[in-house]
Amino acid sequence: MATTTDPLTVHALINGEKVETKDKITRENPSNPEEIVGYAPLNTKEDAVRAIDAADEAFKEWRKTTLDERIERMERAIQKLRDSQKEITEVLSREHGKPIYDAEGELIVSLMWMEHACKTAKDVLGDDVREDENGRTIIKRDPIGVVSAIAPWNYPISLSTIKVAPALLAGNTIVVKPSPLAPLAVTIVLDIIAQEFPPGVLNVLNGEAEVGIELTSNPKVMKIAFTGGTETGRKIMAAAAPTIKKLTLELGGNDPAIVLPSFDVNDEKAMRRMVVSNFLTAGEICMIAKRIYVPRSMHDEFVQKYIEAANKWVRVGDPFNREVTLGPVNNQKQVDFVQELIDDAKSHGAEVTKLGKILDPELFEQGYFMQPTLVTGAKQGDRIVKEEQFGPTVPIVAYEDVDEAVELANDSIFGLTSSVWGDEEEAMEVAARIEAGTTMINTAAIQGLDVRYEFGGVKQSGIGREYGEEGLEAYVHKHVINNPKTKDLPHIPE
Ligand code: NAD
Repeated sequence: MATTTDPLTVHALINGEKVETKDKITRENPSNPEEIVGYAPLNTKEDAVRAIDAADEAFKEWRKTTLDERIERMERAIQKLRDSQKEITEVLSREHGKPIYDAEGELIVSLMWMEHACKTAKDVLGDDVREDENGRTIIKRDPIGVVSAIAPWNYPISLSTIKVAPALLAGNTIVVKPSPLAPLAVTIVLDIIAQEFPPGVLNVLNGEAEVGIELTSNPKVMKIAFTGGTETGRKIMAAAAPTIKKLTLELGGNDPAIVLPSFDVNDEKAMRRMVVSNFLTAGEICMIAKRIYVPRSMHDEFVQKYIEAANKWVRVGDPFNREVTLGPVNNQKQVDFVQELIDDAKSHGAEVTKLGKILDPELFEQGYFMQPTLVTGAKQGDRIVKEEQFGPTVPIVAYEDVDEAVELANDSIFGLTSSVWGDEEEAMEVAARIEAGTTMINTAAIQGLDVRYEFGGVKQSGIGREYGEEGLEAYVHKHVINNPKTKDLPHIPE
């Protein structure tokens, strides 16, 4: 049985003050839905207006601070987060359902990015002064103003700090709204960061779409940084249109993994990496490999070796058990959706194989658990292949030749990440033909993530990039101050 703790309460933060709300979000433990992990505020549209006003007011002074000061404050926050690592990751694991090693991984990646942002801030955000025979030009990086950051439930800490760090380093102020499905650990994290900054610079709200709608339509908001589903992304673009807000949208993905004929099915390490690429965080990752394309001639052998590898790695159970690699799904709605896709595939003749071991059958029955499944015999047009499952199931589709594999991989409204598996030179060539923001070779998902490089989607997977230089530049305007030697153009008559 999973351990229980007393419910904790987190608060909204507006202008440096903790704010109580009458109504609360109650977050249950997905392993044991009867256990309440904690309460978050259910903020309203009025709270959102107050937070935006506070951020707008704070921006007047914050924008004048030096980059050195901002970096120093952020580095202090990073250290405080390190000191609180145990508390944060335990709360995250308990409220989200991801195993403790995975919750620790989320915090590690978050800190890695925050540190990288601090390290590169001067190069990327500093003034660029150019002087030559034509005159003197300064390209300044001006902050944009009030930023709204809206995050989903699957990686609440990473997908908030990925926005907060560059936004504040660049001299903006921010209002963050995490998802009501994982509001607790991220609110603790944001509260720790906020303590190192002046009141109003970092504000935190929780709540439903009502808050999100205000954050994306209020005229004082100058930029929206959103991670979530493509459907919500469409609404946000529309909400941003009347006041032409700057947008970074990190949306859904349906990432293909192309297995080339040169892939060695007996390479146990590669096969394990493939399994992890499909099922880490119970498959609830935007950049998980969500459909596998395998040469028809290799199909049966691949499936057999895949099942062997999955049966070794997949151990479903209590997220606090260090033996466990997969916890419950985050919420019942997601369980139902994934099951709907599996049932649909079955009704079209696909076969479903259960993978791995259930370590604690009693707990399994009690929580939002799903045993991971491999779906064979699925067709390109089946919902399980076309739609983003965002859960512990993966379809395998057979292809005839590599051209067809590339065509099938690109046959999607999405284009977030992707992967190619096999001979590395050949894989690099095939990778270049895929429509995606990132393509990884012989690895996928978080295993191949590198915060030094830009991350984001093409097609309906989004607009803009996070991480890398662009992940910082997305929070500034380039302001060109030009003092040319020749101030008149010769073709203009006197
Ligand atoms: P979601 O779109 O339902 O919700 C995301 C956030 O938007 C939540 O905080 C929600 O309260 C808020 N929201 C809902 N309606 C809103 C509105 N009208 N205006 C403003 N805000 C609103 O997404 P989710 O279910 O939390 O997350 C899963 C989705 O996120 C998947 O599609 C996944 O692929 C995607 N995702 C993308 C990335 C990426 O980097 N591209 C990363 C993680 C998750």
